[in-house]
Amino acid sequence: MAETIFKKIIAREIPADIVYEDDDVLAFLDINPLSKGHTLVIPKEPAETLDQLSADAAAAVGRVLPRVAKAVLRATGAKDFNVLQNNGTAAHQAVLHVHFHIIPRAGKDGLGIGWPTQRLEPHEAKLLAQQIKSHL
Ligand code: AMP
Repeated sequence: MAETIFKKIIAREIPADIVYEDDDVLAFLDINPLSKGHTLVIPKEPAETLDQLSADAAAAVGRVLPRVAKAVLRATGAKDFNVLQNNGTAAHQAVLHVHFHIIPRAGKDGLGIGWPTQRLEPHEAKLLAQQIKSHL
């Protein structure tokens, strides 16, 4: 896996405003925030995308996410927030190290999301669900 900016932050080779750290997880402020308090939570395991992350590393991040989110909300006074997790270029991932964005929302501040829904026919849904199940 290529060296990423987040690997350098974990190794303290470049600075970051770190808000949380344990053996498996690091959380720090996003350098170009979409809103006040925009924070990134990352596993220390160097996986590029979520599907490549080990179950243990995913569990470690999962344990920490609610706690960091709660702290961000208390610090910023926001009540609402998005958790965003991009994987791959088509999904707007710029840094190839798994990361979860915690983005506080207040009015027009923050993230813009298009949600162009498509129609899913019942027979297609059944087939698709079966296909996904067969890969689990
Ligand atoms: P993504 O598009 O999901 O890959 O988002 C990558 C995020 O990393 C962006 O929101 C960037 O602003 C953020 N970012 C990039 N470099 C740094 C850095 N050195 N410190 C903190 N956040 C960073």
